[in-house]
Amino acid sequence: MDMEQVNVWYLSHSGFAVSFKNSLFLFDYYLDEADDNGKAKGDGDNQTCLDKGIVRPDDIASYERIYVFASHRHPDHFYPVILTWKEHLPQAQFFLSSDIPKKHRKDWTILLKPYENYEDNDIKIRTFKSTDEGVAFLVEKDNVVIYHAGDLNWWHWDEEPFHWNKDMEAKYKKEVSQIQNYQIDIAFLPTDPRQEKAEFWGISWFLEHVDVKVVFPMHFWDDYSIMDRIKTEAQHNPLFRKINTISSRGQHWTLQAGH
Ligand SMILES: [Zn+2]
Repeated sequence: MDMEQVNVWYLSHSGFAVSFKNSLFLFDYYLDEADDNGKAKGDGDNQTCLDKGIVRPDDIASYERIYVFASHRHPDHFYPVILTWKEHLPQAQFFLSSDIPKKHRKDWTILLKPYENYEDNDIKIRTFKSTDEGVAFLVEKDNVVIYHAGDLNWWHWDEEPFHWNKDMEAKYKKEVSQIQNYQIDIAFLPTDPRQEKAEFWGISWFLEHVDVKVVFPMHFWDDYSIMDRIKTEAQHNPLFRKINTISSRGQHWTLQAGH
């Protein structure tokens, strides 16, 4: 057992920051404006930009390593401003899903297709194929394993034809059957209230089949009402007690992770 103290911040929608030791991981950052209706932050305390749900390169420059991920090109997952950070953060590495248009590629961006492995001295990355666009990321560093689903989910829409929904279900279950070969410390999983009765199908299936310790819901379009439904479900479903509910942008958790 080699446990690390890990910090997690909710940045908005599917955007999360994770830090431990001297590394920072940023996933699917897309909303670069701070909202002022959130908790007002006083000056002079030790709050950072992440506590406002935003990234300001100067504020995170002291991290020794920074890993930036974009799971696919949709504007709620990829915002090209992330590429402007490189100038201020030479230590940052950028991992972009291969569906992100060519014009955003730089010499220093690392493109990942589904089912690719990336490995260097510090980090190991494995991608899976999204059921929507792009990839999901499985990231391992210092015995901590993080999974960010992107839009890999059991999408179900009543207005789609029966065979579309059946096909989606099969694709989702097939991906999960590969992910279940890994032990995951922290997973970020879609729970989209627009799916109505199907909003928890994907996360439930994942929890039932994958060895995961801590889960954060995402892709809920700032509709925090889903958190009450997660809490209600957790009353009779112990797997749902692994889910950290979210109440505001910039929210921060400290947890122990690793194995
Ligand atoms: Zn999306």
